[in-house]
Amino acid sequence: MNPKIRDVRVICTAPEGINLVVVKVETTEPGLYGLGCATFAYRHLTVQHLVETYLKPLVLGLECNNITEIWQLMHQNAYWRTGPIVNNAISGIDMALWDIKGKMAGMPVYDLFGGKMRAGVPVYRHVDGADAEEICENIEKYRAIGVRHIRCQCGGYGGGGYGEAPEWAAKGAHPGIYLDSKKYMRDTLKLFEKIREKEGYEVELVHDVHERIHPTEAVEFVKEMEAFRLFFMEDVVPLEHVEWLPRIKALSTTPLSQGELFNNPAEYKRLVQERGIDYMRVHLSQVGGITPARKLQQFCAEFGVRICWHGPGDMSPLAHAANIHIDLAAENLGLQEWSGIEPPNFVIQELSGKKGALLDVFPGLPEYGNDGFVYANDKPGLGVDLVEEEALKYPCTNTVTTWTQTRNRDGSLQTP
Ligand code: MG
Repeated sequence: MNPKIRDVRVICTAPEGINLVVVKVETTEPGLYGLGCATFAYRHLTVQHLVETYLKPLVLGLECNNITEIWQLMHQNAYWRTGPIVNNAISGIDMALWDIKGKMAGMPVYDLFGGKMRAGVPVYRHVDGADAEEICENIEKYRAIGVRHIRCQCGGYGGGGYGEAPEWAAKGAHPGIYLDSKKYMRDTLKLFEKIREKEGYEVELVHDVHERIHPTEAVEFVKEMEAFRLFFMEDVVPLEHVEWLPRIKALSTTPLSQGELFNNPAEYKRLVQERGIDYMRVHLSQVGGITPARKLQQFCAEFGVRICWHGPGDMSPLAHAANIHIDLAAENLGLQEWSGIEPPNFVIQELSGKKGALLDVFPGLPEYGNDGFVYANDKPGLGVDLVEEEALKYPCTNTVTTWTQTRNRDGSLQTP
């Protein structure tokens, strides 16, 4: 069987209020199609336009079997390469082609990668709260259902919500999310001290700095956090300053993770070679889909760097499933982020307050086993479907993004 690409369609949907972009590749084989995630939640119309206007005419009629060739063709077709819009568009088609190949083979995608290295994928969940007490209560709820790795934040990433500049900011400063990095660091140290006092060292803790401090501050902060024996600290510097990471790592035993903003191998190859991070955290659609992520996973393995792919709410269940398929077959899996989506599991849905509209649109999401692990279903391909009639019930919205307008006390912008 050697089907060809007959049609490429883009479906945008927001079942949980977050814009999701799905690409459906239909083939010349009746009933055979694939689905991929092209979600760039904050620029969804641009990705849709790129797929429909530029990539579809490029790939129509090509043989679905030749994924590597088609990926490279899409990648170099506009001469200027990579970037979040281009990579997300490519990812939609790339994941769909892997989905098709799995369906043709009658195998889940992880089998195409050499089969399972493990039975389940260990995941971490997010816990937030107004203070240490509330955060500990939430940690205990997750521990009660088997979660062993928990990311702890107090009020997000420090700074609260978007609004007018607070009175402690410089006069005339623009609206934004205002940060005081020194206060954030002091508060976080106190918070983890209280969490360890209450919860002990049995639970693995993660913290995400989200690029909201200066690299000079990161040197000090990562060292001070050593006492709390984190599983890892994430994004302690912005994408633009990852050259600082080997230096920070050399001064502290706190494991470091980085990478949800990476788009181009030029940004991370050297970092991996220098062992400047412990965990590689790319966002699959942001790097161009399964094809480049699988290559990266194997590259990291050669240097003893483990993977912990980005798994937030602003990506579709197709991308979460793609994460799990690579994880299952990877010798160098560290952990998997599992956030913003809820497996068909009542306990977790109850905890997060989510009603499960996502599952009506995307049946087949990998399931949480109440034991700290997520399990892929064994259906051929990615194992996740799209119910188009359901997807249409939840149209996307297009508004100015405010959560990225992060500012320092003097009113200057800080990476979000
Ligand atoms: Mg993060």
